[in-house]
Amino acid sequence: MTNVDYSDDYRILHKNLQNLIKNKNFDAHFYGKSYYGNDLVAFHKGSYAGKQFLLTGGIHAREYISSFVVMKMLEDYDLPYGCFFVPLLNPDGVSICLNGLDGVNDDYKSVVQRLNNYSTDFSMWKANGRGVDLNVNFPAMWGKGKLNVALPGPENFIGESALSEVENISLVKFINKFDFEISVAYHSKGEVVYYGFSGASNIIKSKSKKIAKKFAKFLKYKAIISKNSVGGLSDYLCLHNISSVTIELGNDSFCHPIRYINFNEIYKNQYVAIKKIFKDIKND
Ligand SMILES: [Zn+2]
Repeated sequence: MTNVDYSDDYRILHKNLQNLIKNKNFDAHFYGKSYYGNDLVAFHKGSYAGKQFLLTGGIHAREYISSFVVMKMLEDYDLPYGCFFVPLLNPDGVSICLNGLDGVNDDYKSVVQRLNNYSTDFSMWKANGRGVDLNVNFPAMWGKGKLNVALPGPENFIGESALSEVENISLVKFINKFDFEISVAYHSKGEVVYYGFSGASNIIKSKSKKIAKKFAKFLKYKAIISKNSVGGLSDYLCLHNISSVTIELGNDSFCHPIRYINFNEIYKNQYVAIKKIFKDIKND
């Protein structure tokens, strides 16, 4: 049963996002609509010339603290290099996690109820609005993961096919329009930096490893090779020659979902790490 009201976190997240859209200091790129019709939006700061950085968050609904982290990074970002910020890859899922059935479109309420096993507690929801886990749905050794689930549900369902979900289709189209150097995907939790998609080239593997080690050292997180990860956004990017690491924010003592009230503790060194490591990469 639901004991906690998460709707305040949703209101703050939504308001922050709307304020960023109105902010004239950077560009908002609307790259599509989610299944429920929510805007998919990327922001850009810095120069469009040369290779770009990519920071993403909010692909797993219950890990929405990562959306707050990417939004704050956009505000703090003061480097000349071009960087895209996509704070909320899964707006429908985050709406379900925080608003329960109130966050679901009317024609989909009964489906989501069934997928959640008729529980009124949606706080552990990880998937999108159709019960597909977006981070196992990319065409990068899709369907080969150990934890993959074959039916829709709150987590780990890989989808009917690779790239079956409109949120991912739109993202891939958007990513293909630009030339990216590296990407960081924010999740929670565990204080880990994952790297090393097994399907990537050796060059991308070693570059991702180097970047992961830098982040881990700076943040005092663990760098771990993700031997079994498939179908993830970082896996997909590595397959397409964009080095990518996945950062699990916050230590394991936090409960899922990590709430906005803990934001300052989660965020503390994150931007400093980005600033230092982006500079290192450009000066290499
Ligand atoms: Zn995650």
